[in-house]
Amino acid sequence: FEPSKYAAELQGHWATEGGDASYAILARCFVLVNSTQSRIKIVDTLVNLLRVIIEADPTSLLPTVWLATNAISPPYISLELGLGGSAISKALKNVCGLDNRSLKALYDRVGDAGDVAFEAKKKQSFTLRKPKPLSIKGVYSSLVKIANTQGAGSGEIKQRVVDRLLQDARGAEESRYIVRTLCQHLRIGAVKTTMLIALSRAFLLSRPPGAEFPLKSRKKLAALKKEELAEIWSKSEEIVKKCFAQRPNYNDLIPILLEVGVCDELLIRCGLALHIPLRPMLGSITRDLSEMLTKLQGRDFSCEYKYDGQRAQVHCDDQGKVSIFSRHLELMTDKYPDLVALIPKIRGEGVGSFIMEGEVVAVDQVSGELKTFQTLANRPRKDVAIGSVKVEVCLFAFDLMYLNGAPLLDRSFRERRELLRGLFTEVPNQFTWVKSTDATSQDSEIVLEFFKSATDVKCEGIMVKILDNLKDVKVPDETEDLSVMEPPAPSRIKEGMKKAGKKETEKKTRRKALLATYEPDKRLDSWLKVKKDYSTSFDTLDLIPIAGWHGQGRKSKWWSPILLAVRNEETGSLEAVCKCISGFTDTFYKANKEYYEQGGDHVLSGKPSYIDYEGGYPDCWFEPQEVWEMAFADITLSPTYTAAIGLVSGERGLSLRFPRFLRKRDDKGIDEASTSEFLAGLWRKQEKAPTVGKETQDER
Ligand code: ATP
Repeated sequence: FEPSKYAAELQGHWATEGGDASYAILARCFVLVNSTQSRIKIVDTLVNLLRVIIEADPTSLLPTVWLATNAISPPYISLELGLGGSAISKALKNVCGLDNRSLKALYDRVGDAGDVAFEAKKKQSFTLRKPKPLSIKGVYSSLVKIANTQGAGSGEIKQRVVDRLLQDARGAEESRYIVRTLCQHLRIGAVKTTMLIALSRAFLLSRPPGAEFPLKSRKKLAALKKEELAEIWSKSEEIVKKCFAQRPNYNDLIPILLEVGVCDELLIRCGLALHIPLRPMLGSITRDLSEMLTKLQGRDFSCEYKYDGQRAQVHCDDQGKVSIFSRHLELMTDKYPDLVALIPKIRGEGVGSFIMEGEVVAVDQVSGELKTFQTLANRPRKDVAIGSVKVEVCLFAFDLMYLNGAPLLDRSFRERRELLRGLFTEVPNQFTWVKSTDATSQDSEIVLEFFKSATDVKCEGIMVKILDNLKDVKVPDETEDLSVMEPPAPSRIKEGMKKAGKKETEKKTRRKALLATYEPDKRLDSWLKVKKDYSTSFDTLDLIPIAGWHGQGRKSKWWSPILLAVRNEETGSLEAVCKCISGFTDTFYKANKEYYEQGGDHVLSGKPSYIDYEGGYPDCWFEPQEVWEMAFADITLSPTYTAAIGLVSGERGLSLRFPRFLRKRDDKGIDEASTSEFLAGLWRKQEKAPTVGKETQDER
């Protein structure tokens, strides 16, 4: 708790002539965050930055938060920079006086465009004009200008803005981060993931001039015990995270925070709102039915088909205006005009505004037969005219989060479901409820039957959801006899049940924590996923293809094997986890080569510095672009692969045995790929169960 001299500090070192917070302070924060692995230090650095801005230049807070989180708008507002790599290369040549050869040599040496800018700026011996120090506000508005410039001549205008930013960047570090920001790959993931925590703490300690909300006194905080302090931090963190989960837009959150600080009023003023998507509740993975039954023992739950389609959040206001959002909060109303047209038909009497959730699935509208996700993927993403819809869909509704002006998030799932099914009307094969059956862990036979019926109709498995909040249910006593629940089939289920008995106390604590409320952005055990793949393979991972080798024989024209990586959320680097040769078709190989080489120009000339791999020399490196879902037999410790190194072993990373390509995840961006932390978690889970034959593919 350093005394707060932030205003003086800002004016002394970190303000532009106009008195605005300079970009230099943000770049400094990035450098500091980048120089440590310690989460505590990262949060502290960020809290200090935010406190300076809040106290000395609060109007810069919103742009600071956008730039630090490497975005300029929330996902549901389409504001994209749309800059190609060539605009950055041109700017580097224009501003730093590099020719093509020296630029290529730098790229080959350091890989990442930001690092190229860093090196180029270090070497730069002249300036075209006197740089005008960049302010945080100025950089943010330049980015917005780039994103908003469209139409004829926009390329030149954008180029001028990029050139100007690079010219005015003082020193190599500012240049590095300006370029990384322009490339939209800041590579300091930790800033993004800790922003809400840092905001919640900064607003307990600082307020803008003129604001009157109470602050926590430094002296009092310093006198608290560790646990008491942790409780204060976590309470305020919870409020800020809850607001952002319900209304994920800094443009809404920051102005209210500046006005009222972290308090209950923030929750009221920054809560759920129509036409702003909330972050969806997520399901926890379970290995199989027995694990699911064990976790939910003593509770009533609903098993639902887990359809293989696209999640949709449907908002409708009193005037009948409809917005539809994706799982990742993108606006996709234009993709589903047929669903929009359906709303007046499904809306029962007394229904005004609502927010509903369901899965959109391609179906045969005569027979009702479910089609694959691939069929749905063939529907164009935008501007689908209602008369020309080729891929027909059905919305399988599963939740209702808002009704007639009131949020329903705190109601139990049973109540929300009753409202949904009671107030809305089905339209066969176009709008209907997810198929479901209610059960308890005593009903293993019913659950098994239901699971089979789901997979028979090409569903991915089932989702299992707790129906009631605990105050509504009886907690079974400790002596409950688990053997009576023993199901008839697979022996694995039996084994799971036996193990369950031993861990009764542990489970009882967990049971108490499980609520049936809708918890935006949380992955809790009150929603469990059981997928059919899980019974044959351990799990799936969403990996990023990062490099390839020239194939042999029949595959000589393509890349095979392909190297894949997980994402290290803390450092922003990509850590190689396996090579894969399995699950690809020839058509896939061909399209893959074309995508990276010709169409997309996503081949890099050297290994980028943000990739961790010491296991060999691929023939080409890919610019990280895609997420592929991969199955595998199990996870092994590896001397070759660096994934999750330090998380499970100091010297060895983790690798996958028998990796197999399942499908591309077009719905996921690279920053949603599996993290090294997640991989380490799977490994730990796996190690609890006995496994056989552990060696990596490279060791075989
Ligand atoms: P997640 O969405 O949990 O981060 P993911 O993108 O890998 O993970 P899955 O593991 O396939 O997705 O499972 C979750 C998804 O299943 C939901 O986001 C939703 O789109 C889909 N889904 C299908 N049927 C249901 C259902 N009945 N209830 C909830 N979600 C369902």
